[in-house]
Amino acid sequence: MKRFPLFLATLASLTLTTSCANHNKMSKENGDCASNSSRISKDFETGRFSNCQRLADNSYQLDLVPEDKPINASPWYAFRIDADKGETVSVTLNYTHHKHRYKPKMSKDLQNWQLLDEGNIKLTEDKKQATLTVTMPESRVWIAAQPILNNNFYKQWLSGFKKQTDSISVSSIGESTEGRPLYQLASMATKNDAPALILLGRQHPPEVTGAMAMKVFVDRLFADDQLAEQFRQKFNLYIYPNINPDGVAAGNWRHNNRGKDLNRDWGPFSQQETRTVMNAVEKGIKGKAVWSMLDFHSTWDDIFYIQNRRMPNRFPEFTQDWLNDINNTDMVIDFTPKPGHNATSPTSKTYFYERFNMPAITFELGDNSTPEDIDVAAKVAAETYMQQLLKRVGE
Ligand SMILES: [Zn+2]
Repeated sequence: MKRFPLFLATLASLTLTTSCANHNKMSKENGDCASNSSRISKDFETGRFSNCQRLADNSYQLDLVPEDKPINASPWYAFRIDADKGETVSVTLNYTHHKHRYKPKMSKDLQNWQLLDEGNIKLTEDKKQATLTVTMPESRVWIAAQPILNNNFYKQWLSGFKKQTDSISVSSIGESTEGRPLYQLASMATKNDAPALILLGRQHPPEVTGAMAMKVFVDRLFADDQLAEQFRQKFNLYIYPNINPDGVAAGNWRHNNRGKDLNRDWGPFSQQETRTVMNAVEKGIKGKAVWSMLDFHSTWDDIFYIQNRRMPNRFPEFTQDWLNDINNTDMVIDFTPKPGHNATSPTSKTYFYERFNMPAITFELGDNSTPEDIDVAAKVAAETYMQQLLKRVGE
C-alpha cells in the first residue's frame, strides 16, 4: 500500500465556496486569532478549532476539542491563514482529546490540496501537539485534516445528474436538524419491481476519503457506457450521499448537531437525519427486493466490513466474488475483508443485513489513500460491483 506521498489532488470538478471574510481587518473576532501581519480564521463551512491563543507574532496555538464526548479519535481541524505572501506562520494544533491523526493538507483555492511537507510538522512525543510551519505561498491558504468537501460540494455534484434522463432524479427528501437539505439520487430500472440497491455516505464528517470514493463510485454507475446503462436498466438505485450535513458544516469529529453518532441510529431512528433517509428508503423499496447496501466511510486502512460467510445471505458468495475481482487487479489499493456482525450495534450494516439478509457492506477507505489511488480503486470497485450484480439478475 502506498503511503503518504506528496500529492496534489486536482478536485477539478468541485466548486467550493466559503463565506466571505474581510481579511484586511486584522482585529480579533470570536474564534479568530490575529497579530499584526497574520490572521487565523474558521468562518467557513467545515472550519474548526476551539480556542485560539496568540503565542507571538505569527505564532498561534489552536485547541482542538470535539463536539462532545466520548467520541472516536477523528480529530478534524480546518482553518484559514491570511498573511503576506512569503511570511512564515507557525500554528500549533493542541489536542485536548485523542492525538494527532490526519496529516495536514494545504490549499490555495479549496480545490487543489497538497500534503504539508513532513519537515514542516513537528510532533511532540505523545502526539498531543503538532506544530505546523507554513511559509505562505499566497496571501491566503487553507489548512485542513483532509481536503474540504463541504455541503456545497454535494449540491454542485448532484445538480449534474438532474438533466440526464427521466429515470434519474435528484430530490431533497427532507431536512437535517438545522434545516439543511438531505438529498436522494435515484435511478429507476425498466421494471418497477426490479431489485433495489442502497448507497449511503458521509455519516461521519471527517471521513473524506470515503466520500471521495463514493463520488467516483456513483459517477461510474451513472456513466454512459453499456455496462452502466444495462446495470441501471436492471436495478433501482437509492443513493444518500450526505447524511450528516450539519456535522459537515460544523467540522464535527463524528456526530450530528445533537451529539449523536448517526451510524448507531439504524433501528432506533431517533435522529431526524436517519429517520428521513429511512422513510425515503421505505418509499423507494416498496414492492422490491433489496439486494445490497453499501455505506462509505474512512478509517486507518482500506477495509470492507462484511458479513461472516456462515451467516444466511441471499447471495452468500457475492462479497467474496466482488472482493476477488477488486483485489485481483494491480492497483495500489487493496480492500481487506473484515467479517463480523454485532447485533447490539445499530449500524446501517447491521440494520440492512438483519432486515434483508443480503450483502450489507461498510466500504472504508484509508485516511491516507490518495485521491489518485481512490479514483482508480473506486472505479474498479463500481465496475466489478455492476458486473457481479448483473451476473445474478435474470433476464
Ligand atoms: Zn465512519
